[in-house]
Amino acid sequence: MKNTLFISDLHLDESRPHITRAFFQFLETTAKNAEALYILGDFFDAWIGDDDDQPLVQEVAEKLATLTQTGTQVFLMHGNRDFLLGETFARRCNATLLTDERCINLYGVKTLLLHGDSLCTADTEYMQYRNLVRTRAWQDQVLALPLSTRRAMAIESRNKSKNMNSLKADDILDVTPSEVEKVFQQYQVKRMIHGHTHRPARHPMIVEGKNCERIVLGDWHDSFWYINASENDCQLIEQKI
Ligand code: MN
Repeated sequence: MKNTLFISDLHLDESRPHITRAFFQFLETTAKNAEALYILGDFFDAWIGDDDDQPLVQEVAEKLATLTQTGTQVFLMHGNRDFLLGETFARRCNATLLTDERCINLYGVKTLLLHGDSLCTADTEYMQYRNLVRTRAWQDQVLALPLSTRRAMAIESRNKSKNMNSLKADDILDVTPSEVEKVFQQYQVKRMIHGHTHRPARHPMIVEGKNCERIVLGDWHDSFWYINASENDCQLIEQKI
């Protein structure tokens, strides 16, 4: 039977080789016969530009391109840490880049895909920062800097975020319920899939009298999370690493 997979928040980084290994194993087993694999952001813990020449980036691109050769389509969506990921890298992966919220028809259920940070509107400081860094002008300016400068900036911002906003769910704000409802209405969908909050769960809810569901993917650490959707069902699965 055909199936489609969703993952997010792997936070791939050279300092976390067990996550990279778990991901490659996932590609060679679970993902191998899937119709499509959607990676919904924060795939990488940081992204300084498609010209980054570190071996991890090259290896990931090769593995994803290999997966597509056996018929699995790969889609990449921006997260709040890897929003600079561009078309050049997507092409190397033979993947399609989804830069923003996207509605898909998932075996008959209209489903909205998003990273999830845009739902956390209570963090007004972050929302302002998000608006700035998603502008073309800001991105062009940053990407024009030498690779070494961008690398130093990434290290600096990571040191900062270690104090303020680590990978632990407690340190990341949860979604704003009213914003979730607004987005359900805006897109007229019955299902939403996102990550970002590191609070994996299924949230059935009623919006405008209709049964809807928000499914939240988990981040990859001691275990990993994925959604396996088919014509029959849509499961949120946790697997130990
Ligand atoms: Mn995130």
